[in-house]
Amino acid sequence: MSYAERPVIGISSCLLGQKVRYDGTAKLDRWLVDQFGKHVDYRPFCPEMAIGLGTPRPPIRLVGTPEDIRVVGVDDPSVDVTEALEDFALSTAAQLPDISGYVFMSKSPSCGMERVKLYADKGPAQKKGVGAYARVLMQSLPNLPCEEEGRLHDALLRENFVNRVFAYRRWQTLRRDGLSAKALTDFHARHKYMVMAHSQAAYQRLGRLLSHLKGVDLDQIADAYEAEFMNALKRRVGRKRHVNALQHIQGYLKNRIDGDDKKELADSIEAYRREEVPLVVPMKLLRHYFRCHPDNYIDQQWYLDPYPESLGLRNNI
Ligand code: SF4
Repeated sequence: MSYAERPVIGISSCLLGQKVRYDGTAKLDRWLVDQFGKHVDYRPFCPEMAIGLGTPRPPIRLVGTPEDIRVVGVDDPSVDVTEALEDFALSTAAQLPDISGYVFMSKSPSCGMERVKLYADKGPAQKKGVGAYARVLMQSLPNLPCEEEGRLHDALLRENFVNRVFAYRRWQTLRRDGLSAKALTDFHARHKYMVMAHSQAAYQRLGRLLSHLKGVDLDQIADAYEAEFMNALKRRVGRKRHVNALQHIQGYLKNRIDGDDKKELADSIEAYRREEVPLVVPMKLLRHYFRCHPDNYIDQQWYLDPYPESLGLRNNI
């Protein structure tokens, strides 16, 4: 299967090694550049540079309450760049209708997605803030897969983000190429086991959305489908849910492989359940058996092959 068109990913410029931070340094992330960068094209943005703060520059920080946050100078609180950062986020979101993901730099008062230090009038800072640029960008593009570089060091979060990026790219390609009832139902069928692993209830809700497609506004249905689909994929998948999906797929081999092979496959799924082997082990075995005994329906399932294997993401979960 070909995964999708090459996704375009927005990213905080400093993560690509650009020396744009307040102190004139960068924050190069090797995995993003050397590994993920082989499979995606980056569109870097530094909101603080874009609003004219230059580098090096006096530092800024978040002040206020979680409901009312301002971005002001640390040394000179009369410098308030909140609106400038929010306006830049709006104009960036408008430029990026085809972007398939965004990686933000963590802890930044502009780019941090969550738990950014927020200073009140008195007392120590609390990690309850969201960077002004990241907040408005995420609100403007609510279905866009977004992550922070810090969280991407966690194997489960990394795999979840990359899966969402490639799934979103496929969805964007479908919408760009023209909606039809057939295209929507094919997309839904091909993502069956992927969505079911995340949430069976979401898969059923998505199915109901597509149950009456004659004479309806397909754009309206697609908007609702996109929100539900991307929301379902955000949910982390534990071993139990993967085991469930693997066993369903294993059922398609029931009359095609002999007893020894069935036992080998079942043992490998059990070993995964017991945390003795990573997900890649039963996945590879399943794919091997379906190569020897092809099944049209299973061959189309993105769950078995959702993103470039060379990223090695299923070796660590
Ligand atoms: S965190 Fe954002 S604002 Fe700060 S240097 Fe990096 S890209 Fe620029």
